[in-house]
Amino acid sequence: MKAGEAGVLKFGEDQIARYSRHFIIDEVGPKGQEKICKGKVLIVGAGGLGSPAAYYLAAAGVGTICVIDEDVVDLSNLQRQILHTTGDLGKPKAESARDKLTALNPDCRVKPICARLTAGNAPEIIKEYDAVVDGTDNFTTRFLINDACVMLGKPFFHGGVLRFFGQALTVIPGQGPCYRCIFGEPPVPGTVPTCAEAGVLGVLPGIIGVIQATEVLKYLLGLGDLLVGRLLTYDALSLQFREIQVKKNPDCPVCGKNPPETD
Ligand SMILES: [Zn+2]
Repeated sequence: MKAGEAGVLKFGEDQIARYSRHFIIDEVGPKGQEKICKGKVLIVGAGGLGSPAAYYLAAAGVGTICVIDEDVVDLSNLQRQILHTTGDLGKPKAESARDKLTALNPDCRVKPICARLTAGNAPEIIKEYDAVVDGTDNFTTRFLINDACVMLGKPFFHGGVLRFFGQALTVIPGQGPCYRCIFGEPPVPGTVPTCAEAGVLGVLPGIIGVIQATEVLKYLLGLGDLLVGRLLTYDALSLQFREIQVKKNPDCPVCGKNPPETD
């Protein structure tokens, strides 16, 4: 059986049991699990989106996860940020995330970074990873992730939520539009409300974060059709998903014909 073969390849008995439901999927199997275990994923933001994404990626066996977040756990986070508990109040979110992910899967090496992703540190941090999950709650960091990932040629997995609505998009540099191709420039501060201003239904980031994690696993496995050039939107009230075809902008300042200076 496939699980037995896995033991011969590299997996121990505990791992064969832990990942048995992957081993028995033909398209995954021990070879696919090995790809997942070798995967290195950066999660930007240990909040509503980063929590479910990181949890499922650690459970699936992603070998290295870095969680970067500058905030500490606040009582208002716990309605949706499922990595953190009441006992974590005041603790850095990145460290709380490390504790939960390591407890879930000791095979997963988790690196917490208690800082903000900035134009200064983004290239150094991002270049170490195979994939980046955008779990941010602000446009400045979101555009920064996009620009840095496009320049470094790293795939990133966007998710956004507000009130009852969510969206997801996968950006593979060189294969389709980037976030900036579609959304242009960050909105003028104050014109688009944040979750802190407009609220968000607690379960909503669960749906979108798990879609981001699904895309990461598919990317690591080389399976299926990614959300490249397809903006997926979700309306929790009508319980409808919609897909919007999105195209590369030839004049995009980041991935267009005239790429910017590398700084
Ligand atoms: Zn672009």
